[in-house]
Amino acid sequence: MQTFGGNTSCVEVVYGDGETRIVLDMGTGLRPLGNKLFGEMLKKKGLKITFLLSHVHWDHIQGLPFFGELYWNKENGRIENSWSFHGGTDWQRTAEECLKGQMDPPVFPVSWREIERITHEIQLHSVSDMMSFMVGELSIQARKLDHPQETYGYRITTPDGRVVVYSTDNEPRDPNVPAPPLLKLAEGADLWITDCQYTCDVYNGKTGVPHHGWGHSYPEAVAKTAIEAGVKTVVLFHHDPGSSDEAIADIRRHTQDLVGSDIKVIAAWEGLELTI
Ligand SMILES: [Zn+2]
Ligand SMILES: [Zn+2]
Repeated sequence: MQTFGGNTSCVEVVYGDGETRIVLDMGTGLRPLGNKLFGEMLKKKGLKITFLLSHVHWDHIQGLPFFGELYWNKENGRIENSWSFHGGTDWQRTAEECLKGQMDPPVFPVSWREIERITHEIQLHSVSDMMSFMVGELSIQARKLDHPQETYGYRITTPDGRVVVYSTDNEPRDPNVPAPPLLKLAEGADLWITDCQYTCDVYNGKTGVPHHGWGHSYPEAVAKTAIEAGVKTVVLFHHDPGSSDEAIADIRRHTQDLVGSDIKVIAAWEGLELTI
């Protein structure tokens, strides 16, 4: 049985009536998200999406070639889609190469050059540590995380002060001392979506090889950060592909025990929708 699902990182944030839509990472979850948005694209004659990329490891970008809306365009039903991609400081060179690389022949039949030709608008933007910018009415703050590749977490704030924070692929240096940049990013968040891939035993190699330096987190570190940052709800995310449903449920239960009853802990599953 699969309760939590098996697609890789992709989270949609919608503000207001859907005019402001952010998609955090483009893992394989982007394919079912594309299926969900298809009717809206046809009705509105186009979608406008801002993609905020944590980084370009494959599990965060490989959904893009299978995002159906990418192929609906000016010539095909007069659909005018606008895609805006934001990522690391070398983004325009390195990440664009990554996007192209996973779509160019011989590994994919439609090239990035063709996507650029048929799409109404494509923008590429670089993100750097501490950078702030606006997406529609939403204010975005980027902070660098601890991962083997340049990786960013994002704090999204509505005009009336509601906050969603997305920080995945982050390894704590010390589970008892949360990293100040992460604490600042998550401070007082209504919803903190965070990497919690391992148990502490898996991380420390008690059940196999140690996972130090792999760039992921575990309940003890997540709980400490959640308490110190004063978040309201924690969504555990980026589950280990090798974890069973039971293992993920155990990680959630353990994290909930560690944070106490003032903070709600949810283990994300595919299609989960939350409103703040
Ligand atoms: Zn990664
Ligand atoms: Zn990842």
